[in-house]
Amino acid sequence: MGWLRDWKRRRILERHHVDDALWRRAIKHLPFLAGLSAEEERRLREFAVLFLAEKQFSPVHGLALTEDDRVEIALQACLPVLELGLDWYSDWTGVIVYPGDFRVRRTEIDEDGVMHEWDDELAGEAMPGGPVVLSWDATANDPYMNVVIHEFAHKLDMLDGVADGKPPLHPGMDARAWRKAFEEAYEGFCDAVERGRDTWLDPYAAEHPSEFFAVVSEAFFEDPGETRRRYPGVYEQLKLFYRQDPLSRRR
Ligand SMILES: [Zn+2]
Repeated sequence: MGWLRDWKRRRILERHHVDDALWRRAIKHLPFLAGLSAEEERRLREFAVLFLAEKQFSPVHGLALTEDDRVEIALQACLPVLELGLDWYSDWTGVIVYPGDFRVRRTEIDEDGVMHEWDDELAGEAMPGGPVVLSWDATANDPYMNVVIHEFAHKLDMLDGVADGKPPLHPGMDARAWRKAFEEAYEGFCDAVERGRDTWLDPYAAEHPSEFFAVVSEAFFEDPGETRRRYPGVYEQLKLFYRQDPLSRRR
């Protein structure tokens, strides 16, 4: 049904666009979007329009999102798949946005068969096969994390059925090289967190390899220079996976 999807997308793009003034406002808020080539910028703007048409946004608990807010979420969500294609997000539709952090009930059965229940307070969550959930407060105001890129990186990670910090790699990519780069970086990172050292990346990344992948993906797009300096092997693998070299845009 690729032709039908392509036809629908063409029709959407004939009727909608991100206008120049909105794009300039978005870059003001999201300076890492600057430096795209004219062709990349055109494609990202188109992706954002299609993303808004194909995904279902649900602001909840009285939150009202403006056109700018939605477009900025869409631009950040689409940046990681700019060279992969929007179909990498095709197995789900919902984007739920809470005004602030939200609670989710967790249950886990330990090795003795005892069930544990607790509440987690989250700024974002990507549900396998389901929606992406975002805190608007964290999305708009948290200077230390990019919740949108973080949650959409989780979505990509989950595409092979398991959230383990390794998305489905492209033909020609070397899974061993990926594993080596990420394991070394993750182990060193966890060690630094344990020793209470300054880690640059959010210590939350030590929770799990999937969190490390999501957090380092944020850094890859937002601060590629420092990401490459600290984690050259990881930077190289992310460059191959995302098929982008954000550092080249900064020069
Ligand atoms: Zn996460």
